Amino acid sequence: MTQRSLSSLPSVDRLLSTRVCARLIPLYGRSQVTDAIRDVLGSVREQIGSSGGEPPPTEAILATVSDRLASASEPSLRPVLNLTGTVLHTNLGRSVLPAEALDSVVQIASGAANLEYDIDSAKRGDRDTHIESLLTRITGAEAATVVNNNAAAVLLVLNTLALGREVPVSRGELVEIGDSFRVPEIMARAGCKLVEVGATNRTHLNDYAGAINASTALLMKVHTSNYAIEGFTKSVNETDLALLAHEHSLPLVTDLGSGTLIDLTRYGLPFEPTAQAAIESGVDLVTFSGDKLLGGPQAGIIVGKRELIERIRKNPMKRALRVDKMTIAALFEVLKLYRDPDSLALRLPTLRMLTRNADDIRESARAILPALEARLADRAEVTVVPCQSQIGSGSLPTDLLPGYAICVTPTTGDDRALQALARAFRMLPVPVIGRVHDGCLLLDLRTLEDPSALTNQLAQLDLR
Ligand SMILES: *Cc1c(COP(=O)(O)O)cnc(C)c1O
Repeated sequence: MTQRSLSSLPSVDRLLSTRVCARLIPLYGRSQVTDAIRDVLGSVREQIGSSGGEPPPTEAILATVSDRLASASEPSLRPVLNLTGTVLHTNLGRSVLPAEALDSVVQIASGAANLEYDIDSAKRGDRDTHIESLLTRITGAEAATVVNNNAAAVLLVLNTLALGREVPVSRGELVEIGDSFRVPEIMARAGCKLVEVGATNRTHLNDYAGAINASTALLMKVHTSNYAIEGFTKSVNETDLALLAHEHSLPLVTDLGSGTLIDLTRYGLPFEPTAQAAIESGVDLVTFSGDKLLGGPQAGIIVGKRELIERIRKNPMKRALRVDKMTIAALFEVLKLYRDPDSLALRLPTLRMLTRNADDIRESARAILPALEARLADRAEVTVVPCQSQIGSGSLPTDLLPGYAICVTPTTGDDRALQALARAFRMLPVPVIGRVHDGCLLLDLRTLEDPSALTNQLAQLDLR
């Protein structure tokens, strides 16, 4: 019986010559379709071998082949709705680019571009030229360069200026950033020797002075963005540290992390040090991220003294860490928006979401509440609750932004129901990522600029 069932299965060749495969082959290529057919036939044989029965009809086999090919060609990287309450969420891709930047990326990536070509002289150019003047104009620095991300910027600066030499850093600034960036480890990989100075809570100018010797390459300050040491504390400011460094003919380097190019307090946001303030205090090189508070593409920006930037450009590691043309195109458009601080908060999505006022968010929450109530009916209770969003990406976790969330509480009140509900939202065509907190699923609406992106897919919420 089993033997007969197996022999009545269609052959690979017969399946390949069906009308269904004639449609699939141009879409996926003959070899992929053949592989999918072999896989599906293999599973069918196994099934019959273990539990007997009749082979499925040819149409059913072809439907499985077709489904398998379709799902294998779905990209793994997909858009999601970030309703976690963390605006700059590293795992969810950090900043959202403005339309100007996207248009420019599409244009530049669609054809050839003068990435490293000087049109005037027909000679080789430098990719930094496209963004250097905007960066120097905004920050007041003499020169600027851009690499893959801020971790790369720090690595490159240290490797260029301090290879085989010593770098004193305050014990209060030996930070670890979420995704495995640790100052001591980066130092080691950059080939330089970290010299810890001061104590965790207090570091004095004398501590730095005492650490300087003939092997010292530079002084370094790291912005402790994601934590605060409170109480009996002391750190040395950039101005004093720059004076000390320059007395010894050493450069001062500051890693600002989530550095910004504008005083955020003018928008009612918590204070973050700006790159221009660091330059003004006498810092010789400042590094910061492109996709944190700056609101641009992933990049590491280095601004400062021309002579130091030139040395960085000549380091062979620069070639390994450089940015591509799409990053440069996007960064240019984002930096351009900084020329008009008044319109910046409207035009730069990251800043627009960070500055969105609580009333506006509550309004939006109330507007979509009925749709959620209707869909979740007797399964969960849905309310609008005040909440606190976070800036994210190494900004102080204690600096919270008041807003509103939709709070979804399963009527049964048990954790399994809650996890199932959170999963149902994640399984939507555009996955909705909320935050499970205190027995409910919170959907923070600060970052939901288009409510229909949520409401349009509620019908597909799988509440089994
Ligand atoms: C975020 C951060 C980094 C790493 O920046 P990436 O752009 O994520 O590589 C380095 N230093 C500090 C202080 C940071 O906050």
